[in-house]
Amino acid sequence: MLRNTVADRPDDVAFQFLPTGEDEERSLTWGALERRAASIAASIAEVTSPGDRVLLVFAPGLEFIEGFLACQLADVIAVPTYPPRPERAWQGQRLVSSIAGSCRPALVVTGGAFAGTIRQLLEGLPELAATKWLNTDLVADSRRPARAPRAARSDVALLQYTSGSTGEPKGVMVTHGNLVHNEEMMRRGFGHTEVTEYAAGVCWLPPYHDMGLMGHILHAVYIGFPCAVIPPLGILQWPVRWLKTLSKYRADASGGPNFIYELCSHRISEDLRAGLDLSRWNIAGVGAEPVRAKTLDDFIAAYEPYGFRRNAMYPCYGLAEGTLFVTGGDPHTEPVIRLSPRQLGQGDSIDLATGEEPQRLVGCGHAWMDQSVLIVDPETRLPCPGRVGEVWVSGASVAAGYWEQPEATSETFGQQLAADPESRRFLRTGDLGFQDDGNLFVVGRLKDLIIIRGKNFHPQDLEITVQGTHSAFRADCGAAFGVDVGGEERLVVVQEIDRQTRSLNLEDLRAQVRKAILQSFDLRPHEIVFLRNGTLPKTTSGKVQRRETKRRYLTGELTLWTSTR
Ligand code: ATP
Ligand code: MG
Repeated sequence: MLRNTVADRPDDVAFQFLPTGEDEERSLTWGALERRAASIAASIAEVTSPGDRVLLVFAPGLEFIEGFLACQLADVIAVPTYPPRPERAWQGQRLVSSIAGSCRPALVVTGGAFAGTIRQLLEGLPELAATKWLNTDLVADSRRPARAPRAARSDVALLQYTSGSTGEPKGVMVTHGNLVHNEEMMRRGFGHTEVTEYAAGVCWLPPYHDMGLMGHILHAVYIGFPCAVIPPLGILQWPVRWLKTLSKYRADASGGPNFIYELCSHRISEDLRAGLDLSRWNIAGVGAEPVRAKTLDDFIAAYEPYGFRRNAMYPCYGLAEGTLFVTGGDPHTEPVIRLSPRQLGQGDSIDLATGEEPQRLVGCGHAWMDQSVLIVDPETRLPCPGRVGEVWVSGASVAAGYWEQPEATSETFGQQLAADPESRRFLRTGDLGFQDDGNLFVVGRLKDLIIIRGKNFHPQDLEITVQGTHSAFRADCGAAFGVDVGGEERLVVVQEIDRQTRSLNLEDLRAQVRKAILQSFDLRPHEIVFLRNGTLPKTTSGKVQRRETKRRYLTGELTLWTSTR
């Protein structure tokens, strides 16, 4: 795809890097991108063999993109990895250790800003003791034409490590065939079948996770449209930079998890919004975590005056094991909202039960092309239409398995329906959901489900209720889980308190939380724990790690909030 675009219009801009979301620091044309990738590929090929794993560790910038495409040209397996930061060195080192221990890379490729720091922080890791290093800044542009890559469809293009929300990240083997198929589904889902002169992307998500890499960077390469890249950290601190970049480039596609829309609605003042023009934004993807109806409503209400259209909101569902994109609605249609009872669990009927306070669930669209998404009872392995069950996926975007984990691979990727005449292989996603009128509704994760006295509770429902009780509670910064207390499953709620808060009466707060949970769920929490701002365990993609939170709760490792800081 890259070469097609290069042949067509080598001097058009491919990627721009905006360190603060304001000024362009660097801009790459398609021709220059191919030259850089081919030159780096030649250096990679000198020290590796086809099929070797190559870690890509880059601070935000365009160098990652060059390195990634170089791996493809050199027939090695790219392994995008989180770049460690000096102020949180141990966290990055731990993550890279576990990834390097799993895939045993032959080479680490870095470059651009902080390449030296990255090497310093990682060089001493025992898992990288025998690994070579390449700094792409030192690779000169070679004039030699790159040799043609020989990879087949079924060859592994990259290992995409999962976020680690529910455990240690696992290396998903994404093949070249998976990538092309997934990009083609997104091309159709995002309405990029007709590419106008305005088609352009903005990527603020880290490129070492599937949503940034497949959803934005490789999507731009696949379609052949320009994409502006901004560092994630700046956007989390100043979300308006994201909207400003979209406005400035009149970009039509960009997305992120629910929380970024939440930040945009509640953390950007009116005067900062002045002058925004979001009228070209056609696909505002929202996925990777539960999509909340209220978040969509708030965002639409806040930005309709700036040209944002309701039908640009694009709720979608996906996971690394499915390459990225699994379901999404038709382009330019409004999000579908459906009422349902709160405590939906495996096997429940999806008819709206009476007497319960309903929740508004957001539809995440349907499967695309030849893929199928079924709702299955994991016990009987039979589809269960009209009921809640596990989401199973079959098709050409389902990845080849987990790197060197045959058992986990057959458990997750090798499922078959009972008595399926076609004996298709399914991916079991571990997510609970139902389908209604051509829409997938995700209700939670099987692993996170809290079951108390036979009733199901999804942690997200409890967390939102807690966060709604007081302004000192930070949104998306809490966790609910079950613990065993004398043979009985009991609820524990953990919640961060905002940095700005000075003095609080914790007992009053606890009483408020208890009351809200009792009212909404008829539950009495075993314990309510308040944490210091920024200490709840999260993945590098910003997802709450409930299991890790529970582990730290049980071992007493949580950082409690104190009013005397
Ligand atoms: P790990 O597998 O390591 O525990 P992870 O599952 O968070 O981490 P990803 O592959 O990045 O890793 O995320 C996929 C998961 O994100 C899905 O399985 C699902 O639980 C959740 N998810 C994605 N999209 C949605 C959505 N639209 N609504 C609800 N949940 C979603
Ligand atoms: Mg997962």
